[in-house]
Amino acid sequence: MAIKNPSDNENFCILPWMHLYAEPDGNVFPCCTAVPYPGIPELKGSLKDNTLAEIYHSDEWNKLRKDMMEGKRNDACTRCWQFDDAGGSSYRKHNNNLFKKHFNLVDLTAEDGSIEEFHFKAINIRFSTECNFACLTCGPSWSTGWNKYIIGPKGPNLKLEDNTKESVWDQIKEHLPTVDEIYFTGGEPLMMPEHYKILDYLIQQGLTDMTLRYNTNMSNLNFYKYNVVDKWRMFKKVEVGASIDAYGERAELVRLGTKWDQVEANLLSLKGIDNINLGIDSVISILNVDHIPKFHLYLEHKGIVDETSIMSYNIAFSPPEFNIQAIPVDMKEEIKQFLEIHLENYSGRMTHPRWGFPQIISFMKEKDTWDRSKLVHNLHSRFRHVYKEMTENIPIIKQLLRHE
Ligand code: SF4
Repeated sequence: MAIKNPSDNENFCILPWMHLYAEPDGNVFPCCTAVPYPGIPELKGSLKDNTLAEIYHSDEWNKLRKDMMEGKRNDACTRCWQFDDAGGSSYRKHNNNLFKKHFNLVDLTAEDGSIEEFHFKAINIRFSTECNFACLTCGPSWSTGWNKYIIGPKGPNLKLEDNTKESVWDQIKEHLPTVDEIYFTGGEPLMMPEHYKILDYLIQQGLTDMTLRYNTNMSNLNFYKYNVVDKWRMFKKVEVGASIDAYGERAELVRLGTKWDQVEANLLSLKGIDNINLGIDSVISILNVDHIPKFHLYLEHKGIVDETSIMSYNIAFSPPEFNIQAIPVDMKEEIKQFLEIHLENYSGRMTHPRWGFPQIISFMKEKDTWDRSKLVHNLHSRFRHVYKEMTENIPIIKQLLRHE
């Protein structure tokens, strides 16, 4: 074996040793970045057929760890390699930094990548597709909120517990004492009973010396009998990544179900709570790339974010017509200049836009996939329920429709 020491290994990632990412259909991946994407081979286990332990000890997962130890790039991690090669901040780098203290697991690993030790340190589970929103860059496969807009067969209401050979709760419970971080995503995780079952269990067992991490639409902090903030106060740290792409009317249009005043009040209610870090996880698409600077200024002005807040930019890949690469070349140039001028004139203290906006520009310009007919078709079919609002209220959509 050529390389084993993770610190000398540029292609190493600790996640395959200590992490679980499960989706509501029972599929398990090494992490939320190593998920199916056109052209990228996938590495997937299924809880319908196997337990978590069987997946963790499978030949495929062993091979992934072996490749990591040898400094080889396993295809399953292609998206991280792309970010690494572009000089960006990959999920791999982020997690290696966060979980460095678990690098010793490599010393317990055999040459073939197998390891007897089986205690997750980080868990990321999407328990269901239950959601109260119908975000335009999401869809019925991930949100039950979309169903009311669909004519014909509805999207699935997937629940992880229905798609496992053995109870997922029984399987993860034994790992909770060793876990440093639990990441809840959805659907909308704050709506999910399983989320509260875990929190209640952790509190009862005194296992609160950990980080809870969320992607939430921040629409409601009270579900069932719970006020989630009361629970969060009991944990060492809570990282809230608010899934918000715009403010005001644009927010209500881009993520259907949003009542902006309520979301804003919920965001403000978290300020000043010592163990809660509020960040913004935005999806960047043609629906907001012309709005994002104004959105940031608004949040800063309101005191919702400051220089300590993590602002994340995720690119919308679906539907392809909403991807910022599908903007005509001349309009891309205008957007590039608009974002650059904003950065030049920006006198606030947030640092994320300074590296995030150049990444958005660089991604946007990497490929040109403008197809007017596809955009028009999509707006008239999948998005007919918001066609009028989108074409009247989103300037960039108006401009795109005028473009040849
Ligand atoms: S290298 Fe990237 S894609 Fe692969 S497991 Fe690590 S974080 Fe996930």
